[in-house]
Amino acid sequence: MDYDVIIIGGGPSGLSTALHLQRIAPQLSPRILLLEKEHYPRPKLCAGGLTLDAEILLERLDLNLDEVPHVFADDIHFDFESKGLTVRIPKRHALRVIRRAEFDHWLAQKAEGRGLEIREGITVRNVIPDTDGVAIETGQGQLRAQVVVGADGSNGITRRCIFPKAAVYTARVLEVLTPSQPPPNPTVVLSDLGEVPAGRWGREGVAFFDFFPVPDNIAGYVWDFPTQVNGAPMRCWGIYDTNILANSKRPQLKESLAREMSRLGFDLDRYEIQGYPIRWFSPENEMSVPRVLLVGDAAGADPIFGEGISIALGYGTIAAREISESFRRREFSFGGYRLRVLRSALGQTLIARWIIAFLIYPLKWRWFQILLWRFLKPIVILFAWLFVLNWGKRIR
Ligand SMILES: Cc1cc2nc3c(=O)[nH]c(=O)nc-3n(C[C@H](O)[C@H](O)[C@H](O)COP(=O)(O)OP(=O)(O)OC[C@H]3O[C@@H](n4cnc5c(N)ncnc54)[C@H](O)[C@@H]3O)c2cc1C
Repeated sequence: MDYDVIIIGGGPSGLSTALHLQRIAPQLSPRILLLEKEHYPRPKLCAGGLTLDAEILLERLDLNLDEVPHVFADDIHFDFESKGLTVRIPKRHALRVIRRAEFDHWLAQKAEGRGLEIREGITVRNVIPDTDGVAIETGQGQLRAQVVVGADGSNGITRRCIFPKAAVYTARVLEVLTPSQPPPNPTVVLSDLGEVPAGRWGREGVAFFDFFPVPDNIAGYVWDFPTQVNGAPMRCWGIYDTNILANSKRPQLKESLAREMSRLGFDLDRYEIQGYPIRWFSPENEMSVPRVLLVGDAAGADPIFGEGISIALGYGTIAAREISESFRRREFSFGGYRLRVLRSALGQTLIARWIIAFLIYPLKWRWFQILLWRFLKPIVILFAWLFVLNWGKRIR
C-alpha cells in the first residue's frame, strides 16, 4: 500500500482533515498524502467571508489568521429593498474577509510546515474502492491507499465515482470584483429599487446581504462585501441562488446582480463576471462508502447562504476523528460517518440551515420578506445565534 490516507483536494476541507489527523493521530502523519490538481496560490472563486466559527476552528489548530491578508466587516446587514437588520458582535468584527488564493496557500504551507506531504499539479481521474483499499488513477499514474477522503469540492471526481447516480443539489453563484468606490461619473442611473441608503459608501466595513431577488423566484440573495486585492480596497459582489424555486420562471441571475450594482453606481458590464456551483447539504446526501468518505462541498455546504469555509473546516474535524478510530479498530466501513456528522454541532447547524432555507425561500412573497427582514428582527437574530452561528466551539 502506498499510503494509509490519501486526501483528494487541497481546499479548506482537505487541509483541515490533514491538519486534524496530524494532531489526533500523529503516527499516521508520515503516511498521509494530499493531492491538489492546481499549484498554490491557485485562484478559487469565493467571496472569502469567514464567520466566527471558522476562526474558532482555526484557533483550535493553533493557527493565527492575522497572518493572512484580510479586511474586517464590523457589521453584517441583511436587507430587503433598502431596509433590514444589522448584526454586530460586541467587541469584535462580524466577518473577516480573506482572498481564497492567499488563505488556501497559507493553510497548505502550515500543513507542510507540520510535516504533511502535499503533491500539487496532480489531477485525480478515477477513484476505485475495493475490499483491501482504494486505487486512485491520476494524470501521473496510479496510487493506492487504505482510506481516501474526497475533499475535491462541489464537482469533485470522488463523489461522482462513488455515487454516480445520487441526486445533487447545487446552487448557482456569480461573483464580481470592483473597486471599493463607484466610478465618479457612473454611466448608469439609479434604478427603481430606491435610493442608496444615506452614507452607504461611508460604511466601508459592512457586509451586505440583500434578499430582493426572492419574490422573483431567485431563492437567495445579492451580496456586497468589502475586500482587498494586493492590499488595495475592493468590493466583492455576487448573487446566490439555491435553485429551490427552479420550477418557477426566474430572471437571469446576471440581471438581478446588475440591477443591484447599478443602484449603487456600478455598471456590471465593466467588470469580469465568473460563476461556480455550490453543492449544498441535504439530509439525504450520502457521505461515505467503505474506505472512502466525503468532506466539505463534496458532502454539502450551507444551503441558506452557501457559506462553506467554516463548514469545510468542521467536516475536517469529524472526518479526522472517524479515520483515526477506523485505523485503531482496523475497520474501514465508515458506516457510521454520516450519522456522526448529523449528530455533531456541524450536522445540527446544517440540518437547521436546511430547514430554514426551505422556510424562508419558498415563502417568497414580498410581504413575507418584508416581515422577516424588517419586523421580525429579534426572532431572526435569536435563530441565527442559536442555529446558524456558534457551532464551532461545540464540535468535537
Ligand atoms: C462565488 C462563491 C462565493 C463564495 N463565498 C463564500 C464566502 O464568502 N464564505 C464562505 O464560507 N463560503 C463561500 N463560498 C463557498 C466556499 O467557497 C466553499 O464552500 C469551500 O471552498 C468548500 O471547500 P472545499 O475544501 O470543500 O472545496 P474547494 O475549496 O472547492 O476545494 C477543492 C479542491 O480540490 C481540488 N480538486 C478538485 N478536483 C480535483 C481532482 N480531480 N484532483 C485533485 N484535486 C482536485 C481543487 O483544485 C480545490 O483546490 C463561496 C462559493 C462560491 C462559488
